[in-house]
Amino acid sequence: MKYKFLVLITALISINVFAQKAPFFPDIKNYYTLHCDFHTHTIFSDGLVWPDLRVTEALKDNLDVIAITDHIEYRPYQDEVQGDHNRSYEIASKAGKEKGIIVIKGTELTRSMPPGHLNALFIKDANKIETDNAFEALEEAKSQGGFIIWNHPGWKVQQPDTTIWFDIHTKLYEKDLINGIEIFNYSDYYPEALQWANEKDLTMFANSDVHQTIRTGGFGNHRPITLVFAKDYSSKAVEDALINKRTACYFKDTIVAFEPYLGDLLNASLLVNHKFNYESGFMVWSFTNLCSCPIKLKLPNPLNIENLPNDIIIEPNSSKKIRFKNTEQNIDNVVYLTTNWFSNLNTYGKVTLPLK
Ligand SMILES: [Zn+2]
Ligand SMILES: [Zn+2]
Repeated sequence: MKYKFLVLITALISINVFAQKAPFFPDIKNYYTLHCDFHTHTIFSDGLVWPDLRVTEALKDNLDVIAITDHIEYRPYQDEVQGDHNRSYEIASKAGKEKGIIVIKGTELTRSMPPGHLNALFIKDANKIETDNAFEALEEAKSQGGFIIWNHPGWKVQQPDTTIWFDIHTKLYEKDLINGIEIFNYSDYYPEALQWANEKDLTMFANSDVHQTIRTGGFGNHRPITLVFAKDYSSKAVEDALINKRTACYFKDTIVAFEPYLGDLLNASLLVNHKFNYESGFMVWSFTNLCSCPIKLKLPNPLNIENLPNDIIIEPNSSKKIRFKNTEQNIDNVVYLTTNWFSNLNTYGKVTLPLK
């Protein structure tokens, strides 16, 4: 009996741990929050899996949308695996329709640096993008309605010392042939790309670039995910959101997004209640974090209030109470910065908390 009880407890704990691992973020003001990965490979380029497995993995990871982005120029298994540049999408798309996952047709232009690797999403025919000249290939993708992302701009294989924005990137950008940029790819973070996204108003992405299975890919708790704030649950609405830069990057324990979406996601994810005992002067803050990412708060300028914490961490899917005696009667609010939720280098989200 005791053994059975232990087995039951162990099973419940493992279900709970598994449930916590599937990423979840709530909808925000005016938009649905779609969980997406816009960069995946299959055996039709240099990936190790059949395309429909990407849909099965997406279901397990709480994703709503994936893009299949096999390399145009690098297909090591093409003697064994028949099919043109559209075939992997067709297989995954059929599985996506059966299981309720949106699959976006894409491809990865795979060139040496510069310009490096670029994903084209929402294309019609990947075969027509196979051409020697990178400029022509991207113009063809654009003529098909493609949305173009500069992938892993600081990948050490191509940019070993410093991450450089080359002249050709300026030319592509000026011709509307770079629309977005990966701030996060696989296990990498590119701070330069975050600055460029802010300077040049590029849509921000966090993508897995998975080649193996997600389970064996070495992603830790979760793969990088692009959250998309969409008007409805359709590929058209995803495209509209990407064009209008309504995305957030979820990478390890970090959220990166432009305002106002950073603040809107924070507001939807963090519930705050407060009560003040005017007899004793004690203030109580109650926090509930509804999302999968921790929320780390820091006081930019420490105040002289007894027991007021400089740092507060609200773990994913959990609640926390902070109780302290307010010895400062003249301040109404205190503003904390979210050190792991930010929109640019040194530009953080804000949480305002009452002191009375
Ligand atoms: Zn690549
Ligand atoms: Zn790739």
